[in-house]
Amino acid sequence: MEKDAELFDVTIIGGGPVGLFSAFYSGMREMKTKIIEFLPYLGGKVSYFYPDKVIRDIGGIHTITGTKLTEQLVEQGKTFDPTITLETQVKGLERLQNGNFVLTDHRGHQHYTKTIVIATGFGTLKSVELDLPNAEQYKKSNLHYYVQDLTKFHGKHVVVSGGGNSAIDWANELEPIAKSVTILYRKEDFVGHESNITKMKNSTVRIKTPYVINQIHGKEKRITSITVKNTESGEDQTIELDELIVNHGFEIDLGPIADWGMAMSDNTIKVNGDMQTTIPGIYAVGDIANFPTKLPLIAGGFNEGPIAINGAKKHITQDKELEKLYSTHMDTFDK
Ligand SMILES: Cc1cc2nc3c(=O)[nH]c(=O)nc-3n(C[C@H](O)[C@H](O)[C@H](O)COP(=O)(O)OP(=O)(O)OC[C@H]3O[C@@H](n4cnc5c(N)ncnc54)[C@H](O)[C@@H]3O)c2cc1C
Repeated sequence: MEKDAELFDVTIIGGGPVGLFSAFYSGMREMKTKIIEFLPYLGGKVSYFYPDKVIRDIGGIHTITGTKLTEQLVEQGKTFDPTITLETQVKGLERLQNGNFVLTDHRGHQHYTKTIVIATGFGTLKSVELDLPNAEQYKKSNLHYYVQDLTKFHGKHVVVSGGGNSAIDWANELEPIAKSVTILYRKEDFVGHESNITKMKNSTVRIKTPYVINQIHGKEKRITSITVKNTESGEDQTIELDELIVNHGFEIDLGPIADWGMAMSDNTIKVNGDMQTTIPGIYAVGDIANFPTKLPLIAGGFNEGPIAINGAKKHITQDKELEKLYSTHMDTFDK
């Protein structure tokens, strides 16, 4: 190890919800912790894709917006003062002779650590964009690939393109505040939670299936209307709009982590019951972790973080009997 290099017990790659909760739990177990995050801010997909969306499926929290959840997770994650390094993409891994690891980031900086928790989600995030020649120019005005501020849709005619959970969620969220919401999807049947689909069908949201966006028409750098094509009949229609939200999924790039030698499946990392990858001392949690009963939700990841941290502690201490503790009389978390 380099003389002046700081050695951490745990380095968490990814500052999304699961990485943040893992950092909190790691502090509870008095592990010296570092979080390395690619984006300039914490919160992962919640901050990136749906800060204004209402999240309803976390135990004990009836409803919460993405922004509020992120604020609380960041506050909780910082409880034990982990070192946080933003705008840094982890790329390389080397195992040292003493069993520790050295991670290399995109600037070539090195990060020394005894264990690693990979909480990268599916990797770095980029929305799937419309494959139309003039789409790019409207990205700065009224073509949105994710929604960060609901208020800008107030009183507007909004079209949502997409048929998955997120598109349906946006249609439902916007319905009470927009002047009109139209959702179009290339297939007949939506792919989402049944209750959300039912809610949308029972609302004023106009549903157009099976349709795809064929052309975008604009004036003064804003989209004014789109031509949509019925994929069965071939019929074209024009829809006027103020704002267009396209939710066709996102591209993921796990980058070189996929080549570190861990067993993988469908771009996710296989883990055992301790959330350990096939490399001892390296754990994976959250969306990137792959095991048979995986639940790719925040609630599922909140269970995996503590399991991985306990595994990491066991790896460091070599204490096979290490207890899985819970707090009892801690009045504050001020350390
Ligand atoms: C639109 C949408 C709506 C959703 N709604 C819900 C919902 O209502 N309820 C629910 O429970 N779940 C929901 N989910 C799923 C939920 O967001 C994920 O399960 C959750 O974000 C997973 O958290 P994570 O910490 O594992 O990964 P992520 O949130 O993806 O965070 C991973 C972080 O790792 C960073 N990273 C990646 N690679 C590197 C690298 N090499 N170096 C450094 N940093 C890196 C990324 O920048 C990112 O910030 C939704 C997902 C989407 C896309």
